[in-house]
Amino acid sequence: MNDIEKELEQIQTEAEMAEFHKNYLSKTGKLTMMMAGLKDLPASERAEAGKRYNELKRAIESQFFKKQASLRAKAVNEKLKNDPLIDITIPAIKKTQGSLHPITHLTRRVAEICSSMGFLVVDGNEVVTEFENFDAVNIPADHPARDMQDTFWLTNGKLLKTQTSALQHEILKKHGPVVSAIFPGRCYRNEATDASHEFSFFQCEGMMVGENISIANLIYVMKTILSQIFGREIEVRLRPGFFPFVEPGFELDGSCPFCGGKGCSVCKHSGWIELGGCGMIHENVLKMADVNPEQYQGFAFGFGLTRLAMMQYAINDVRLLNSGNLEFLRGIKR
Ligand SMILES: [Zn+2]
Repeated sequence: MNDIEKELEQIQTEAEMAEFHKNYLSKTGKLTMMMAGLKDLPASERAEAGKRYNELKRAIESQFFKKQASLRAKAVNEKLKNDPLIDITIPAIKKTQGSLHPITHLTRRVAEICSSMGFLVVDGNEVVTEFENFDAVNIPADHPARDMQDTFWLTNGKLLKTQTSALQHEILKKHGPVVSAIFPGRCYRNEATDASHEFSFFQCEGMMVGENISIANLIYVMKTILSQIFGREIEVRLRPGFFPFVEPGFELDGSCPFCGGKGCSVCKHSGWIELGGCGMIHENVLKMADVNPEQYQGFAFGFGLTRLAMMQYAINDVRLLNSGNLEFLRGIKR
């Protein structure tokens, strides 16, 4: 052990440590100065001396930091022992790591899948105009479809969107006429709640508009997205369905991902589950967004993220998802 190391060994306080650092390790310290002196040595000795110097400096620095850590730990322990307000015998509070809400988790997964296929992921407003929510998607004021979608109206005449379709118009105007986009988001309905109805729920809408887009494209995209969400091959089945903003419109069924189509309680032993609605975008919707339906066509689809999360995580009461109940959230197996 050399003299410098001996000096370090005998240090008892943080102030002495600072003094030691100043004397040896700082820019003007003795060790740093020694390095500067190496250049005066004959070239034949310089390499060997440089090596020895580096070894010494590393050794001193390492001991310095070790000593500093131990002095600090000692000081903290002393403080804890002598402070009457701190009781170190109380068990520590157990910290648990949080996790993503199932809806957030699913939304991110869908966004990841769709953006890998070239879809824009649009985060739209929850407050929209009556025109965007209804008229622009071919639901004029006297249309019976409005009855089923009562919502929360604001005093300025705007409303909380009842369906993600409310964003179609804005996206077509902004990004059209050639656009592929999905727009997941929260929707609202003014209705009584029970195990399968909530006043607020999540949907994911998507559309692809361009030249020569057909139902074949729709089926392929649906099949690919759903297969990736469920992590297995999903067959897609279209049945005629009515949605004012598409023509023709379809109800979209997927082969049951839980039993592979053999039949189980989730699919009510039919082998198929209803996943959402879709169709070719109605020409009125395109025209209202200044897209020429003679030149451009497109499809739109929508499915319930809330419903999908309930199926995937076997949740039997939709109200639990908005409840903030940590016990329920922790119990979900992902
Ligand atoms: Zn099944």
